[in-house]
Amino acid sequence: MADGSGRESMRIWHPCTQMKDHEAYPPVFMDRGQGIYLYDREGNAYIDAISSWWVNLFGHANPRIVERVTEQLSRLEHVIFAGATHAPAEELAERLLAVAMPGLSRVFFADNGSCAVEAALKMSHASFRNLGHPEKCRFLFLSNGYHGETAGALGVCGDRLYAAPFKPLFIEQIEVPGPDCLACPHGRTRETCDTECFAAMEAAIDAHKAELAGVIVEPLVQCAGGMRMYPPAYLAKLRRATTEAGIHFIADEIAVGFGRTGSMFACEQAGATPDFMCLSKGITGGTLPLSCVLTTDAVFDAFYHDYVEDKAFLHSHSYTGNPLACAAACATLRIFEEDDVIAANVARIAYLQEAVRGRFAGCKHVAEIRNTGWITAVELYADPGRGEPFDWRSRTGFRIYRAALRRGAWLRNLGDIVYFMPPYVITNEEIDRLADIAIDSVREVLG
Ligand code: PMP
Repeated sequence: MADGSGRESMRIWHPCTQMKDHEAYPPVFMDRGQGIYLYDREGNAYIDAISSWWVNLFGHANPRIVERVTEQLSRLEHVIFAGATHAPAEELAERLLAVAMPGLSRVFFADNGSCAVEAALKMSHASFRNLGHPEKCRFLFLSNGYHGETAGALGVCGDRLYAAPFKPLFIEQIEVPGPDCLACPHGRTRETCDTECFAAMEAAIDAHKAELAGVIVEPLVQCAGGMRMYPPAYLAKLRRATTEAGIHFIADEIAVGFGRTGSMFACEQAGATPDFMCLSKGITGGTLPLSCVLTTDAVFDAFYHDYVEDKAFLHSHSYTGNPLACAAACATLRIFEEDDVIAANVARIAYLQEAVRGRFAGCKHVAEIRNTGWITAVELYADPGRGEPFDWRSRTGFRIYRAALRRGAWLRNLGDIVYFMPPYVITNEEIDRLADIAIDSVREVLG
């Protein structure tokens, strides 16, 4: 029954959205994308400052990706991936292993980030089971971590917002207090940090060693949990501790892989090769859904046997290894290679970091400006001096996001954190414009 709210016309139920907000703020009706810009039906342009949920690397409608996908579309759009393979998947596996850390030698495809995490958790446990240790079925995860929203992934989510409402539906794994570099309980600053907080992880590994299959983390940046950044030394310690305990190190690089943190993969900065690396988002340059898990010979060998019924890894999705998505990923990795993207990004990353620091330095509500590679985040508090956040009912971050939209930037907030994670093709002039829009929007809302 129509009640004037407009709810009866809302056919589409959008993700991560309080649908009632659409009474006052209908979704922006997007028409097309070009480079770093999104254009709505009225022709208004928005800088895609968060790369459309962190997936876009080389701009919308990138001609090199478009060409490759178009060519593939009329050749082979999809095929069952059990018992068959195809050129884009073969090329992609080769390209992925060529850029991954040495030691990662096998590629298992899935079709979205959460499912890559599911696959890694299942593979980790099943490899132990196949080797005669069925009791190794538990995982450690960090508070504030986020690994996706399917049931298995929620079991390792330390981010309360997403996991808590569904608790009766999943098996909760074991939470370990994660690094909190903004309010370090050890009284350290980022400069004086000696990763004392790793003691909690050491203790948890020790306490649960017998039943543990592995530890899952988002390397360097806990993105959905608030762009919380921590040093590579933590990962180096984690690699040592998991090796000593004979358990797996699972790196969820879904958000941070493919250059986001400055290096191709975040774990490289710690010199730590994980046993599993989950990849998605940027893998296709933001074109099509695809994910994969990279793992080692040791894990692969634990499943190598005579029968499907005995020891094979039974995990499949209809669109596993989709040829179009693999073709988009091949084109993306080719851009990395041909344009020497990681080296070329260095100057642009520095420019972005300085532009944001320069604009926000004098703002009295800034608790911290932090950056790791392309990810620059500004955390806003009502009173940073007293460590007092804004009342969440004030919807401060949301109002800043709305203000930025009116100015032509898609700066979707994470709570009261304004963050920048743009496509790598943004120019210095566009970075300046984006930073101006951000500070003007913050001023409009906070005075
Ligand atoms: N892991 C991490 C670190 C993520 O950031 C995300 C998505 N934001 C996921 C897993 C889940 O990926 P997807 O949304 O494709 O399921």
